[in-house]
Amino acid sequence: MQVATGKSVMNGIAIGKIKVYRAPDLEIRNELSEDPEGELEKFERAREKAIEQQNLLYEKAVVDAGEDSAEVFSVHAMMLEDDDLLDATKEIILKQKHCAEYAVKVAFDNQAKVFSEMEDPYMKERAADIYDIEQAVLNILFGVDPESMQGKEPAILAARDLTPSETVRLDKSLLLGIITKQGSLNSHTAILARSMGIPALVQCDAASEEWDGKEAIIDGYNSCAYIEPTPDLRKTLKKKQDVDLKQRALLQELKGKENTTIDGRTIQVYANIGGPSDIGLVQQNDAGGVGLFRSEFVYLNSKDYPTEEEQFRAYRHAVETLAPKRVIIRTCDIGADKQVDYMNMPKEDNPALGVRAIRICLSRREFFKTQLRALLRASAFGNLGIMFPMIISRRELRECKELLRECTEELLAKDIRVGSYETGIMVETPAAVMIADELAAECDFLSIGTNDLTQYTLAIDRQNAGLDPFLDTHHPAILREIRMTIEAGHRHGAWVGICGELGADLALTETFLRMGIDELSVNPVSVLPLRKIIRGIDLSREAAEAEL
Ligand code: PEP
Ligand code: MG
Repeated sequence: MQVATGKSVMNGIAIGKIKVYRAPDLEIRNELSEDPEGELEKFERAREKAIEQQNLLYEKAVVDAGEDSAEVFSVHAMMLEDDDLLDATKEIILKQKHCAEYAVKVAFDNQAKVFSEMEDPYMKERAADIYDIEQAVLNILFGVDPESMQGKEPAILAARDLTPSETVRLDKSLLLGIITKQGSLNSHTAILARSMGIPALVQCDAASEEWDGKEAIIDGYNSCAYIEPTPDLRKTLKKKQDVDLKQRALLQELKGKENTTIDGRTIQVYANIGGPSDIGLVQQNDAGGVGLFRSEFVYLNSKDYPTEEEQFRAYRHAVETLAPKRVIIRTCDIGADKQVDYMNMPKEDNPALGVRAIRICLSRREFFKTQLRALLRASAFGNLGIMFPMIISRRELRECKELLRECTEELLAKDIRVGSYETGIMVETPAAVMIADELAAECDFLSIGTNDLTQYTLAIDRQNAGLDPFLDTHHPAILREIRMTIEAGHRHGAWVGICGELGADLALTETFLRMGIDELSVNPVSVLPLRKIIRGIDLSREAAEAEL
């Protein structure tokens, strides 16, 4: 087995035989022509046909990959009308009396070279477009049918590089994956492959003509390809591929649809994320928003206190990228199992019951205010919710809100924009459940953190795997606490969600809906299965089991 690494364009697995894709060898002779007018006419006909082809590719790409990805082909069609390019080609044909093929090669290559030497990365990338349209015109002049190069069997294509036109022309029903030696992650070819959902690896140096006909696997998750994989590896990755395919089929079925039960109740299904690098997963799984953005990553990934600016950039990126979707960012939840050296936290006998989360923030106010200012600044760029963890009293919530007010004033005094935002708390302790009415009266939402709520209600250390035999995640105490929280929230006009792991437990989805939950925020891969379950629930039916 050979392992070849590259850069992965899309998380996904492709399994199949490799077909080496070679651009046709076009022999361009440097011969003078006796009929320059005839050559010019030949070029004009080929150019017009190439424009027609690019327009057809645009239409195909809109269907296969969406309008944004297809745009490149309308740019190509425009480039084929470019006066400088046309004049340069005509001059070689009419004045230098070269044949049309030679003139196209020289004039288009020169233009591509000009682009490739530009500083601006966007302009530099345009060289690839010129080579693409050059190939299109030459194929027409030589009577080459590019569609015939793919072969008739389903395969992973391996090529030195693929132009966007080549990529879109490929018959998707026969295309399992793509491996190229060259190409960048942001090239149009990569963007097209991603939008078409095809696992692809670019910059794979090891790609070789000798791979032709060999069995291979592209593992987009690990940015590598296995040539002649072992049976065990094949079995493991096949399983992973099946899960992916199911997920993709679900996505096709549910994309853009509401999470509405048969009897017409709609709830929000959001994703939990651990940092900006998970934003792609939110989009990939078509989540309605982010119900828990664990902001700890800024602290855990840093060697020293993260600055306001660093935090602002991360939060802004998330809210701006996902706008107008709601993004709930939880303030720092350090402590207990999440320790950072630079904070010099004293050692505690009972860290889970110790100085953690909001307790740290309220005892280190300048530290907390740095994060609050960053969040308030980010609020101007999207639909933000600010959520406080481990709140056990009205006093704590009031202090948090007072600090938000103080920070807002500080920012406004410096003419820094603050947008509108919601505030909410996590319900993670029995204490918060018991006073949920008072808490709900002073914020916009309550989000139930069932991981900690279970730990503190059942007195089961969530870190201690030895306690698993005693752990009943469906314990009536937990379910009653959830119902009490939902009812308290609704009495005071606050929406109520669940962002702990229990929210993804499909055996409880109907129970939560019957309790009146407004939002469930789950790990991104659970979003689609959960949405599917919700759409199959009929709350007008009698409940299968007696309510708690
Ligand atoms: C929870 O406690 O349920 C929760 C979502 O927070 P974390 O798991 O980050 O403690
Ligand atoms: Mg928690």
